[in-house]
Amino acid sequence: MVQSPFSSSFQLGILGGGQLGKMLCQVAYQMDISTAVLDPDVQCSAAQIAGRFVQGSFKDFETVLQFGRTVDVLTIEIEHVNLEALDQLEKEGKAIHPNPQALRLIQNKQLQKEWVARLNLPTSKFQNFSSKGSPAPNFPFVWKAATGGYDGKGVSVVRSQEDWNSIPDMPFVAEKLVPIQTEIAVIAVRNQSQSVCLPACSMVFHPTANLVTQVVCPAQVATNIVKQAEEIALQLINDLEIQGLLAVEFFVDEQGSLLINEVAPRPHNSGHFTIEAVETSQYEQHLRGVLNLPLGSTRLKSPSVMVNVIGEADHQGPVFYQGMNEVLAIPGASVHLYGKKETRPYRKMGHVTITDSSVESAMEKSHFVHQTLKAISL
Ligand code: ADP
Repeated sequence: MVQSPFSSSFQLGILGGGQLGKMLCQVAYQMDISTAVLDPDVQCSAAQIAGRFVQGSFKDFETVLQFGRTVDVLTIEIEHVNLEALDQLEKEGKAIHPNPQALRLIQNKQLQKEWVARLNLPTSKFQNFSSKGSPAPNFPFVWKAATGGYDGKGVSVVRSQEDWNSIPDMPFVAEKLVPIQTEIAVIAVRNQSQSVCLPACSMVFHPTANLVTQVVCPAQVATNIVKQAEEIALQLINDLEIQGLLAVEFFVDEQGSLLINEVAPRPHNSGHFTIEAVETSQYEQHLRGVLNLPLGSTRLKSPSVMVNVIGEADHQGPVFYQGMNEVLAIPGASVHLYGKKETRPYRKMGHVTITDSSVESAMEKSHFVHQTLKAISL
């Protein structure tokens, strides 16, 4: 029997202590829900705010098992965690959200693609391979490592034999290269009796780093596309019976068709804007879903643009933020710095959300923020 989160002995365990974990701890703290975070790095973002911090690997069976036994409910902020430990904890009666079966499927891009295809939902054409083998799939195609990829690192466009030669030998998905018009994301949230979607957003990518630089809400696509994306997100979250969040990333191709790219069962980079622009943030919604509390309002309060603050390309070492005064002087700009001590090229160091009366004016301010606020090393 899971005890009430609103009691002094309750503790929510979080596997992973990055910025997503930190922002999850912030809303838990607001509601006096105690948190414990497991992460290998004592200097991780969430360590500063977790009720209890445990140093250790969330990929290690014994570490996750022991940590899981000390908390009442277990959730994640990164999906690459030890599943065998979660299976064992589930057998022992621990409440784990997202459930380990859903996590198993999502951790592996091959299984994820097969699942989406099985549900007859739109996604780019693909073929799964258990090793590099030979011959290569027809060029061009998008190579995706079956497991272990994150932030574009397990993804490569293969256009030639030379590209193919540099690909490591591991199980992978070969996907059709989609002519992308734009990318959107919808975050769904579910508790045991309800599921809803947060407002959809559009994503703008860094030209070389394969990282999102701006997230725009409302999404800059036709309302029928948003509606279709929301229906799909709800179908996916209900199919896996996930409690908490499921972020769904989509491509809109040049014909205007919607294609599912990938899903993540946790707070998502594309949902930072919800802290300022939506009545209930993704972090609070995740908490509500995981703890089976009533879901919050998803009403968009204001148009918004979120800009990631990423480490400058040629800077590595103790971080210094240049341009803070200029950015803090902008009406409607909210600065979030994740508390990482060291900057590295393209490392996500923080974000700024700009709320404004129109997307256009928020966008204009976001360009200024992007050019002004720099994570550098002196
Ligand atoms: P990650 O898990 O690293 O976020 P994604 O699968 O989301 O990887 O891919 C990262 C980016 O690569 C996408 O946001 C998109 O811009 C590009 N990409 C991925 N798959 C395709 C595809 N099939 N066609 C064209 N571009 C793609």
